[in-house]
Amino acid sequence: MLSATAARYGVLGWPVGHSRSPAMMRAAGLERYQRLPVAPECFDDTVRALPGAGFRGANVTIPHKTAALALATSASDAAREIGAANTLTFGDDGEIAAENTDAPGLLAALGDRRARSALVLGAGGSARAVVWALTRAGADVSVWNRTPQRAEALGARVVRTAVAADVLVNCTSVGLDRSSSPFKDLPLDADGLVEYETVVDLVYGEGGTVLISEAAKRGVETVDGLEILVRQGALSFTLWTGLAAPLDSMRVAARDADRRLDAS
Ligand code: NAP
Repeated sequence: MLSATAARYGVLGWPVGHSRSPAMMRAAGLERYQRLPVAPECFDDTVRALPGAGFRGANVTIPHKTAALALATSASDAAREIGAANTLTFGDDGEIAAENTDAPGLLAALGDRRARSALVLGAGGSARAVVWALTRAGADVSVWNRTPQRAEALGARVVRTAVAADVLVNCTSVGLDRSSSPFKDLPLDADGLVEYETVVDLVYGEGGTVLISEAAKRGVETVDGLEILVRQGALSFTLWTGLAAPLDSMRVAARDADRRLDAS
């Protein structure tokens, strides 16, 4: 039987061409980790065929996280309560275990930073995991979303304007490209960022985001989307291999992959 690091792994998404996970997970020692572009209509059949092709696990990204949970034969409390899985582990006899490492990944990235209160922007899939994680960690969580009705489903206080808090977490896709701006599309102004001890942006891209750079400029602590990516990947790595994840190598690879994609 192959050792855990010699088995095959991958990231399931559609599209998945820009994923930094292969570079990061190969740097961690999973040399046979690859992109797995799978259209939604092929998701179930493809996943069920992976163990037979030597796969021991897979990460799951947009748009498959809900389908991954539905397909699994067992799921952690986190995956079930969040309603989404980003990590699948294939066992013997067709067993598929679902886990959500996005939520603990956020808490790992926050580390010892104070998070007694939080303002979460967004109400999509990532916001669900972030609200779940912060609430479970004891934070008083408020949620703002462009479409307030969607925020009601997250089970936290819904706010119509930004409120001060220890931590601000951007879980919207604002900042992903130049057509959106955190100070136009979100209830934020740059000088108001000092209301937060820590600003977290799940979005990552070319040379960092405006939200992170404006917060850092004002002396606010920041956690960027690549650190969140590294932390959720590290937890998946440990789940599959039982080994401590080499965080520094993973960080370097995730940031280098960013530069390579920028240059292409
Ligand atoms: P999603 O389910 O599609 O949700 C998108 C959210 O963004 C919704 O709340 C939506 O509001 C909001 N939004 C979109 N355009 C907006 C605009 N112009 N102004 C205001 N709000 C806007 O996406 P998701 O899965 O939660 O992901 C959100 C972002 O996080 C993505 O950029 C993704 O790449 C990133 N992410 C990063 C990591 C990581 O590891 N770093 C992990 C997961 C996700 P409405 O409800 O009003 O449409």
